[in-house]
Amino acid sequence: MTVRKLFLLPGDGIGPEAMNEVRKIISYMNAELGGTYETDEGLVGGSAYDAHGVAISEEDMAKAMAADAVLFGAVGGPQWDAVPYDVRPEAGLLRLRKDLELFANLRPAICYPALASASSLKPELVEGLDILIVRELTGGVYFGEPKTITDLGNGQKRAIDTQVYDTYEIERISAVAFELARTRKNAVCSMEKRNVMKSGVLWNQVLTELHKAKFADVKLDHMLADAGGMQLVRAPKQFDVIVTDNLFGDMLSDVASMLTGSLGMLPSASLGAPDGKTGQRKAMYEPVHGSAPDIAGKGIANPIAMIASFAMCLRYSFGEVAQADALEKAIANVLDRGIRTGDIMAEGCKQVGTVE
Ligand code: ATP
Ligand code: MG
Repeated sequence: MTVRKLFLLPGDGIGPEAMNEVRKIISYMNAELGGTYETDEGLVGGSAYDAHGVAISEEDMAKAMAADAVLFGAVGGPQWDAVPYDVRPEAGLLRLRKDLELFANLRPAICYPALASASSLKPELVEGLDILIVRELTGGVYFGEPKTITDLGNGQKRAIDTQVYDTYEIERISAVAFELARTRKNAVCSMEKRNVMKSGVLWNQVLTELHKAKFADVKLDHMLADAGGMQLVRAPKQFDVIVTDNLFGDMLSDVASMLTGSLGMLPSASLGAPDGKTGQRKAMYEPVHGSAPDIAGKGIANPIAMIASFAMCLRYSFGEVAQADALEKAIANVLDRGIRTGDIMAEGCKQVGTVE
């Protein structure tokens, strides 16, 4: 019996409330479904600062590194606005992403039928929507050097950001996208701007070669990222997996999120490279929303983003596809029965909370 080690970092604001709901699911799985999940828990963000004066302690970092998967709540809040920059709550999240080398950010946009009318698009365009955006998270223009603002001396300044991608970075994110597509509808659409960017040319070339060599069974399309954005709001159901760079992925995943309803619905996963020996990836799962200080402690936060993040953990870290499907089905059932938190309230539904 393999023990599966989960490290829980509930964090601040509504993070702990949302994590409590996942804890109940884990207990149920262990008690009733033969689950072997072992949980340990640490502090991150403002709660770590209050306890230890840092955004995450070395002890908790070590536990995150040793775990099979990390479940992360949310960090931050107005009470920590004045803490030194290096130990601000968000520094804990960035440290985790960097030290675990989580280069692949997965953001599904799933539109549950009961919420189709909450989308920014017409219900028929999004009903049954299930797309996955795979965003490169540790390279590109966010990190490329030089990155400067220079005084040109004539009343003018010059700002430079640099988009840098190496072959290995494109290969590893492309491989993640192709592998995931095989577990879904087997289709990948790659988005870049090869018509104006050299990084787009290399992206296209490396991805296409990898496809030919190892993933020829997966249907592959290419779109320029601007046209891709347009298609995403015109006819989103045409996509299965979208793979793109850090900047385009940031924008396209925010666009996609608005197709599905509330911020309180959106999960995410961040994956690292497979371990040379075990093949196991480092991974962290977190809701897309933040700590929502305005509603923290009131018991009205929507826990679905956190619960759906755990479903992603079951799917991607443990290969428990049936259990992940069942958990997502349970979310859909609850919504169908009209049980809602305030952010997704609709006429005829019953409002519930997260604190009993
Ligand atoms: P961060 O900077 O930490 O990413 P943010 O500025 O993106 O945070 P959030 O705190 O995530 O903002 O949320 C913005 C608002 O959306 C909240 O103030 C809250 O009202 C609402 N909201 C976010 N998440 C939820 C949730 N799970 N349930 C209900 N409402 C939510
Ligand atoms: Mg935010």
